[in-house]
This record gives sequence, structure tokens and C-alpha cells, in this order.
Amino acid sequence: MPCTLLPGANDTLLLASIPTLSAQAGAAYAALLAGIAITLRATAHKVELVHRLQAAGLCEIEVTSFVSPKWVPQMADNIGVMSGLRRQVNVRYGVLVPNVKGLEAALPTGPDEVVVFGAASEAFSQRNINCSIAESIERFRPVVAAAHDASLKVRCAISCSLGCPYQGGVSADEVERVVMLMKDIGLDHCGVADTIGVGTPKQVQAAMERALKHYPLHEVSGHFHDTYGQALANIYACLEMGIHTFDASIAGLGGCPYAKGATGNVATEDVVFMLDGLDIETGIDLDTLVDAGAFISEMLGRPPVSRAGKALPAKRAT
Ligand SMILES: [Zn+2]
Repeated sequence: MPCTLLPGANDTLLLASIPTLSAQAGAAYAALLAGIAITLRATAHKVELVHRLQAAGLCEIEVTSFVSPKWVPQMADNIGVMSGLRRQVNVRYGVLVPNVKGLEAALPTGPDEVVVFGAASEAFSQRNINCSIAESIERFRPVVAAAHDASLKVRCAISCSLGCPYQGGVSADEVERVVMLMKDIGLDHCGVADTIGVGTPKQVQAAMERALKHYPLHEVSGHFHDTYGQALANIYACLEMGIHTFDASIAGLGGCPYAKGATGNVATEDVVFMLDGLDIETGIDLDTLVDAGAFISEMLGRPPVSRAGKALPAKRAT
């Protein structure tokens, strides 16, 4: 999900493109594509979306997920999507893997990096995977080791970092505890994810401060859902701290099946519009990006959630 920005000298701003990570990641991306029947044609649409995103200048794209097809049937064509890609050398293609089995399925498709996910909320972990946070993260230790053996970078996404549908508030202490567990098993990159979209800027900064105690600036990223309209404000709060890597979702696709009313990850188009206005160079062409959002929205038969994705075509039409 991403691309590189050079605001000053050597800052790299990574912007996410496709889907969502986190505990809901697989499921959220599945929701994203749920409107597409599982046909060869749908696979072609997914591949075309990736091609359009890379043409827009995104240089890190989370392409698919290697979760069990029983769990997320919409991801059953993960191998077909990966093998259908016309790869660009400057683009990193990531996949989500829930366990060693998923990693083993993913490796032959040649991802550049893999993503694992855990929750910052004990209640969420117990309710959804029937184990403690510590147990769930320990299960990733062999995944990380095997991925590193294959010279792959491994990112983590810490879901429920700013709030949980079951326990409510999540403290910065709870976030830091998971950050340390992730660091302990060797994760290369720490993603702090507000998967239900309840966080506000000061709380975001408090959580990010904890992540930055254990990971360098360029290995910390933010993932914000726009449920309460806070996603751009939260990204701005991160930019103020120097954090320059964010996940975003084209046309705001996705959602959170565990949190009533939770909307998708912040729309990539909206983030790029803001960054353009801040004179932060992203290398992303907003018009091409908006067209990519319009394409997938049309395929899904729904309007883009992105504000910029609606406003810019309307302006063009006048
Ligand atoms: Zn998400």
C-alpha cells in the first residue's frame, strides 16, 4: 500500500492503496470485493485494479490475502491475482498471511512482503480468536522466521489500537505492550491501526509515541478508518510527528465486520488530495488515482466513498 514522498530530504511517504490490514484485514478486503462474484472475470478486475493503482504511482500495494478460502471465499483467487500481475520494479506487492500455512501458499507467488496482524485489545483477541494477545502473537514467530528465511520483509498491523468494539477504550500502555511483543518476534515494521475508526488526533499521537519508542520513524505507519470522520485529522497528527507511511484504501473500500457502522479505511484519493495541498510530494497522480477508484466502484456497482473521488469527476464534468 504505498508510495514514496520526499517532503524534505529523505522522508519517505508511503501511501497505501488497496485494502485494509489488521485483524479484519482479510475480512475487510473480502467485504471490499464481496460484490464481485468469484469468477475469472472478477480476478481480472482485481488484477486491473492493481495495474491502475501502480499506473497512478502507488509503489506499495497490498494485493490479496492468503487466509483460508473457507474463512474468506472472496480471496480464493489469491494465486490467480498474484500470477496475473504485470509487475513494475519500483512497486512492492504485499500479501496478508494469518499463519505458516498461509505463508507457504503465498511464497510461490513471489510477494515482496507479508503482513501479519494482532489486536491491542485483549477482549477482541479472546472474542475473535479465542486466545490471549500474547498467544496470538507467539503464533506468528515461525511465520516471521520463515518469511525472513525467504528474504521477505514482514509488517504487522495492530488492530483496535485506539478502541475496541468489545472493551471500549484501549490505552497507549496496551498498544505499547503489543508493539513490544511484535518487536520481540522480529517484525520489521509496526502498523498502528484504528480499525473501528474511533480515534482522535491526540490519542493517535499518544499511541504513536509508544510505537516510536521501539521502531524507527520509517518503520511505523498509521491505518485509520473514517467511521467518525477523523481519519484525515489523524493522518495529519501523524505527519506532525514525522510519520510518513499510511495505509489507505482506493475509493474507501472495505469495512469492519466486527464493528457496527464502521466504515472502510480512509480513501486513498482523499489522502492524496490533502498531501498535494500540503505540498508533500507523493509521486501519485490524483487524476489517474480517481479513475482507478471510479473503475472499481463501477465494478462493484456502488459510488466511491471517497469525497475527492466524487468531487473531482464532478468538477471535470463542468
Ligand atoms: Zn482497516
